[in-house]
Amino acid sequence: MYVVTPRNRWQLAGHVANQYRTHFPTAPAPPTDNPSRWPRLQRLMRQLDLAKRHGYQAAARRCREELRECLTLWQQDTRTTVPVEPGGPTVRDICLELQALAAEFGEVQYEPDRQQLSVVTEPIELEGVYLGEFRIVLQVSGGEQFPAYEIEPLEPNWASSATEVSHPHVSRGYLCEGEGKQALQQARRSGRLSDFFLIVQRILTTYNPESAYVPLEEWHGTPCEDCGETIEESELCRCRYSDRLLCDGCSGICEECEGMFAHEYLSACAECDELFCPDCLKGGICTYCHENQEEEIHHETPETLPIPAATAATSPA
Ligand SMILES: [Zn+2]
Ligand SMILES: [Zn+2]
Ligand SMILES: [Zn+2]
Repeated sequence: MYVVTPRNRWQLAGHVANQYRTHFPTAPAPPTDNPSRWPRLQRLMRQLDLAKRHGYQAAARRCREELRECLTLWQQDTRTTVPVEPGGPTVRDICLELQALAAEFGEVQYEPDRQQLSVVTEPIELEGVYLGEFRIVLQVSGGEQFPAYEIEPLEPNWASSATEVSHPHVSRGYLCEGEGKQALQQARRSGRLSDFFLIVQRILTTYNPESAYVPLEEWHGTPCEDCGETIEESELCRCRYSDRLLCDGCSGICEECEGMFAHEYLSACAECDELFCPDCLKGGICTYCHENQEEEIHHETPETLPIPAATAATSPA
């Protein structure tokens, strides 16, 4: 990765302009009354190029003549001069774009192995949530999505509920473009690099809750009302007694009714030592242990009351 400077700018611009020419070889067809003329012109230019490259002089001459004739006809069609330049930005265009970018972002970097042009945003904070700096990376080579781009967080503050979300509008490096979609596409496609990076930066510094992958108010999760630790809201539970939202560490389950309670409302049964809520303990003992005790009393009743012996012993007196 190197910093783009006035010294190396021109060479890089040449490379980028070349990529654009490869991906968008022709300019959009200018208006003409005869729709078949433009494709024919293009075909002839391709044939002429080929003939020249292979040194087929006779073929090149024929192409040139035919081209001249076709151009004359087309000029008659449109009554204007004919732009026959290939599409895409020129080296000079790209050079000026790189210069504008450096003026806007302070520094433009280029990674030659991956052919990535990038700038770094200022630290971004939205509605009190610090998200840090982001690198906007434009891939100036290959691929159908040419030129593709992605957003890398440099000091990631991932959303607590989704670790691939580094910004309300960025998930897995992919920017949710929202209303900027068309403007971005046009800037990217036409090589207006400074426009492209500035629009991306504007989207990154503007919060739109409706299109957020994770809304900012849920960024850090929800705090436990006892210990203050922030975790995802779905992992908190509400105490049945106090109505407070609590984390696992600050709450427990009543063994009887299976409700969640803050620790202060749970007490151990004097018999079995399990935890119960105030409603499920009677006199410090749980229902289960109560039942056990009653059963024991029932079982013990015939043996403990010495009915026959007592009657035998007391009746003679
Ligand atoms: Zn807690
Ligand atoms: Zn209970
Ligand atoms: Zn018990």
